[in-house]
Amino acid sequence: MKILKFGGTSVGTASSIQALLEILKSTKENPIVVVSAFAGVTNQLIDMAECACQEQPYEEQLKELESRHYEVVRALLPAAAQNPVFSKLKIYFNELEDILGSVATLKELSAQTRDLILSYGERCSTLTISHVAKPCFPNAIAVDGSALIRTDSNFGQAKVDTPVTEQLIQAYYQEHQDSLLIVTGFISSNEQGRITTLGRGGSDYTASIWAAALDASEIQIWTDVDGMLTADPRMVEKAFSLPELSYTEAMELSYFGAKVIYPPTMAPAFSRKIPIVIKNTFNVDFEGTYIRHDVQPSKLPLKVISSINDISILNLSGSGMVGKAGFSGRLFSLLSREQINVVLITQSSSEHSITFAVKPNDAVQALNLIYKEFELELQSKKIEYPEVESGLSVLAIVGENMKHTPGMASRLFNALGRNGVNVRAIAQGSSEYNISVIINKADLSKGLNAVHDAFYSELRKTLHVFCLGTGNIGKTLFNQLRKQMPFLASNNDLEVKVMGISNTRQMVFSDIGLDLAQWESVLQNDSQPADLAQFIKHMKAMNLPNCVFVDNTASPAPVDYYEQILKSSISVITCNKIGNSGSYAQYAAFKQAARTYNVDFYYETNVGAGLPIIRTLKDLMLSGDKVSRIEAILSGTISYIFNNFTGDRQFHEIVREAQEKGFTEPDPRDDLNGKDFMRKMLILARDAGYPLEEQDVVIENMLPESCLNAASVGEFYQELEKNNDYFENLKSQASSANKALRYIGSLVDGKVAITLQMVDASHSFYILSGSDNIIAFTTERYKERPLVVKGPGAGAEVTAAGVFADIINVGNK
Ligand code: ADP
Ligand code: ASP
Ligand code: MG
Repeated sequence: MKILKFGGTSVGTASSIQALLEILKSTKENPIVVVSAFAGVTNQLIDMAECACQEQPYEEQLKELESRHYEVVRALLPAAAQNPVFSKLKIYFNELEDILGSVATLKELSAQTRDLILSYGERCSTLTISHVAKPCFPNAIAVDGSALIRTDSNFGQAKVDTPVTEQLIQAYYQEHQDSLLIVTGFISSNEQGRITTLGRGGSDYTASIWAAALDASEIQIWTDVDGMLTADPRMVEKAFSLPELSYTEAMELSYFGAKVIYPPTMAPAFSRKIPIVIKNTFNVDFEGTYIRHDVQPSKLPLKVISSINDISILNLSGSGMVGKAGFSGRLFSLLSREQINVVLITQSSSEHSITFAVKPNDAVQALNLIYKEFELELQSKKIEYPEVESGLSVLAIVGENMKHTPGMASRLFNALGRNGVNVRAIAQGSSEYNISVIINKADLSKGLNAVHDAFYSELRKTLHVFCLGTGNIGKTLFNQLRKQMPFLASNNDLEVKVMGISNTRQMVFSDIGLDLAQWESVLQNDSQPADLAQFIKHMKAMNLPNCVFVDNTASPAPVDYYEQILKSSISVITCNKIGNSGSYAQYAAFKQAARTYNVDFYYETNVGAGLPIIRTLKDLMLSGDKVSRIEAILSGTISYIFNNFTGDRQFHEIVREAQEKGFTEPDPRDDLNGKDFMRKMLILARDAGYPLEEQDVVIENMLPESCLNAASVGEFYQELEKNNDYFENLKSQASSANKALRYIGSLVDGKVAITLQMVDASHSFYILSGSDNIIAFTTERYKERPLVVKGPGAGAEVTAAGVFADIINVGNK
């Protein structure tokens, strides 16, 4: 025989009860059915009781509750069969009205009265369901199970007297074997016959008590999700269902907030080795999560990441606690005597302090109890006055395999740390089946998702990206991202969601990620006016895990925010050179912030667009090599000009051509004056370990003064033409010596210079085509022949690709 329990989420609307009836129809043997109150009803009853006690109106709510039950009857029974049910329900609602009336008169709500009020939730649902079941199950009867579960008088969380209960249930069952029993969950009674309750969520427990008493073959817990998932699906979108769990695992994770099953449920089932299966009323094809003793060994190091949303902590510290063996005993027996449930305890190894977590509505009482119990110690300052800290949550990772898997804690803390989730206290259960941490409630969703991503790496990791700049590079990046999404998902297990975009005019955010096929129209039509400070504030406030800020602008404005962004545990990727080529102090501050907050600061495209130059240098440095010399051509524009300034055409014509091809800045002098090149060399020198400033870079002017000083771009071209002889002279000097003209940056002995040189065919920079960049690193290891990186070093496609690669590198961390 099986016990089927249907939770509030599975009852309470006509259609869910219809689904319940279908499930009963497909059950072969005659089961015993345990039901909860309709969804939300227990909370409503608590609310009404409190309103009555505080002289606030509750009558409307009571009426609504009543008609909600009537509506189910109307929807599921033919008119002729409805009246008898209405009159039975009416009796319950009249009683309830009287009790609430008495509470209002007395202005007093004892735990006993409260339990009595709550019992109507289950009694009304059982009554309703047993009647609407009658057309298909004429033998259905409503059972007020409160009389069959005997408890102590600990109202609200009563303790079951198992031997008496089992006798009562067995005797009742003997007499009613042929009926379809629809039993109230959650409610019980004490020796005097007063109603008690088994604790919130207690209907699961009722099912297990009945199962143990009757030695059932299985307990089915029917709810609204696909069994036990790796995390609460309301908080973690990527959570997935688990096929099975051990009783201990189920116990630990329900204790730490996995509400899908109530912790005490496990004990009766465990004692008789009765399997529990959690099933989905709304997806009957789902096989269920089995909780049983003979679970198959699992490959997952941990099973579930669970959480308790709202928790308060108290911290007790002081020299008076050191070496006092009985201190924590005194504290915790005091709390347990007063029925304060301690969710988690941590004690520092010096025994100098104890931190413990309780439910928020127990916190003040706990504090007062401590004040009383430890009055002497507090007055003599042997311990400090404790305070309550609230707004906290518990995040716990649970799984039997954790015991045998090293590095679980570090993976947990790394995921939290990288996402800026501050851990307030840590506890590892003595079973080693769980590690739990206390974090700020505001960080819970981020923490859960980050930890889920870190442990279930076979699932797709999600990166949340905020992009600034929709010019050539920004646009191209969005295109590349859009095209590569499926590849990233299948080959890299990575999902990139662009959560916000801003240019200088408009900005837009999305909670689910922007559609990159539509971004332009969304930015135009559904956006707000751009405001950089707001953009960054909003990005931080969204508090997303694995978050990246991408600067695709060439503007100084975003640079001011890099440091604070990094300090908010958000990685920064930038193709904007202004940040890293500003003051050395600023450059160092970015690096420091990234290191301290364990996030990434990537700027591969600052030098040579998508070419792996920064990364190569970093690898050399990290592996302990020493850079003695760097030689480089890092201006695509200048490369292009000199590579083409060989035949008959004049210098100004080639500059014009470079401009037309989109290689140059709007004013080509910004390239030709060496400033852009200087920035790149400065960044390289800094990355090579030299704390240089802009003025330390010597730039040899390639152009005659008059060209540089021209008032406009037009005049600049005229000056170039006027100075044609100067350029022709350079060219003929070079060609007569069989050499090529090259504008070369060098770093030698910590000194950076950019000079116009003539190189012969033996020089590795002699052969260079188009707008290619080239860089040669001479190091201790690459002494004889330098390490050379060469390739296209300008253009939107390659730069965007470099930014893209940086994004992937953050994702792969
Ligand atoms: P019922 O009314 O059926 O007893 P509950 O609300 O008590 O249902 O429990 C089901 C809910 O538990 C789900 O809707 C889900 O949001 C929540 N939950 C929390 N953690 C988990 C988890 N790890 N797996 C499945 N559900 C979870
Ligand atoms: N109705 C009770 C509650 O909401 C018991 C249950 O649903 O399991 O806590
Ligand atoms: Mg429940």
